[in-house]
Amino acid sequence: MRTPLVAANWKMNKTVEEARSLVYAMSARLRIIKGVEKVLCPPYLSLLAVHALLEGSDIGLGAQNMYWEEKGAFTGEVSPLMVKELCQYVILGHSERRLYFGETDETVNKRILAAQKFDLTPIFCVGETLEQYESKQTAEVVNRQIRLGLAGADAAFASRIVVAYEPVWAIGTGRASSGENANDVVGKVIRAALEALFGGSTAQAIRVLYGGSVTGANAAEFFGQPEIDGALVGGASLKPDDFIAITQAAAT
Ligand code: PEP
Repeated sequence: MRTPLVAANWKMNKTVEEARSLVYAMSARLRIIKGVEKVLCPPYLSLLAVHALLEGSDIGLGAQNMYWEEKGAFTGEVSPLMVKELCQYVILGHSERRLYFGETDETVNKRILAAQKFDLTPIFCVGETLEQYESKQTAEVVNRQIRLGLAGADAAFASRIVVAYEPVWAIGTGRASSGENANDVVGKVIRAALEALFGGSTAQAIRVLYGGSVTGANAAEFFGQPEIDGALVGGASLKPDDFIAITQAAAT
């Protein structure tokens, strides 16, 4: 059976001091929730401070992105070697990276293969825009993102990948998908695409999260769906009570 996972994407929020305070406000409560993997993804500058606070706990740490080269003349970038020193996870292909920073299926794929090389677990984001949703292109778009994004990954690594289905129209809008719609996309599109790439048993082993306006109030609707194995949480992950409620819902 797939262990549920809840990941907090803090996005570009919190200074180092504020990040410390947020960890203080929730880590003791998070630690006592068992049966669910918990991951915090603060901005790069706070990774070191959060790493120190989480040491010895069962709460994982993730970066929000990374470049694919190990080192060199790439001003402003952060390499997998650097991420690996502090983190077990890395969010890749988030729609905000695709939308505002020109990331494509091809450049996301380079990052995925770098994660494979450096033994990092990607939280690999896919999802259609509102326009694509309204013109019924969800299956085509998500299938392509999976196929191109994971091209060249080997099956042993693939079974560790975490996929996040994040319809772009649901991110930060307060308009979450219904549980049933998300379950349908994950089951019929994402797992089918994973099966075509890696075979049935690997596709069944891969955890697929839902992301997009998840809150303490609606989380149970997603976690009750058979194909959904947890959540990638943006806005609500900055509110300790909400994030704890979501994590608790995933554990039960
Ligand atoms: C996200 O950014 O991955 C996300 C799901 O954001 P929100 O929960 O705020 O919709």
